[in-house]
Amino acid sequence: MNSRRRFLSLSALGSLTGLGTVKAFAQEKSVNGSVILSTWNIGIRANVRANEVLESGGSVLDCVEKGVNLIENDPNAGTVGIGGFPDEEGHVTLDACIMDSAQRCGSVAFLQHIKNPVSVARKVMEETKHVMLVGEGALNFALKHGFKKEILLTERSLAGWKKRIAERDDQLPEINVENHDTIGMVARDANGNLAGSCTTSGAGMKLHGRVGDSPIIGAGLYVDNDVGAACATGWGEAVIENAGSAMVVELMRHGRSPQEACEEIVQRIANKFQEWKPIQVGFIALNKVGETDGFAIQEGFTYAHHSGGQNQSIKSKSLLKRDA
Ligand code: ASP
Repeated sequence: MNSRRRFLSLSALGSLTGLGTVKAFAQEKSVNGSVILSTWNIGIRANVRANEVLESGGSVLDCVEKGVNLIENDPNAGTVGIGGFPDEEGHVTLDACIMDSAQRCGSVAFLQHIKNPVSVARKVMEETKHVMLVGEGALNFALKHGFKKEILLTERSLAGWKKRIAERDDQLPEINVENHDTIGMVARDANGNLAGSCTTSGAGMKLHGRVGDSPIIGAGLYVDNDVGAACATGWGEAVIENAGSAMVVELMRHGRSPQEACEEIVQRIANKFQEWKPIQVGFIALNKVGETDGFAIQEGFTYAHHSGGQNQSIKSKSLLKRDA
């Protein structure tokens, strides 16, 4: 169904039934069972873990937390949690957020020494009346809640950082399938409830103290249980400037499919962000009934899709083609 027809049918139903629109649409198109979607090829492993959590009776919130924890805990992932890429001063500083089906959210930014920032974000959501903690305050909060202080710089990440310093390479590394900094996950359980998470060491060689889009609710991640969920990866500044993930969800609310919504926001970033050609920004989106898709500026963005017992890596459509 094209956007206009979909919108018209949703609004006609909506005027009669309010939130019943989504339910009516769900009956028409709903994917049976759960759907898990996450960024990049690392998402394949994360989806397996996330699905295990759902299958063993965990909530959709547990699923998106534990799924990305697997990558945060892997020192060789290189861009998330332990072993994340350092900033220009050689410090690993992490950003993460999480959001549940009741519109609750938690976030931490510029957090050092704790390898599971997404779990600290969940604690902020569940144990405080706030949404976001940063820096030393976030670290102290984590320690108080039993998280362990660790050295997050690994031999590998230190060697990569030293190489860039030696080469006096102050260009930010290209963000692409071989080199990226974030895992974002959005999921829907078999009852149609949604949740999302996002965790990163941020853009490699960023300024010390820089916070990207990933911990910012509405930029790096957004979930609206009546509509859908989206998350972003890539050049965070462009995503923040365009309230990326919230906009993708908003377009889905107005009838766009996940693919149309992601494409429209990528196009908007391209229209508004002056230096867009060399940067990468990618979105993934999932709607209430389990339809999914992604879209990116550059070719090379991949995401992992888990549904109906199948887990596969998908090459995203993009605005630009390599060597174009
Ligand atoms: N969005 C992240 C940031 O700007 C980086 C990435 O996804 O590659 O911090």
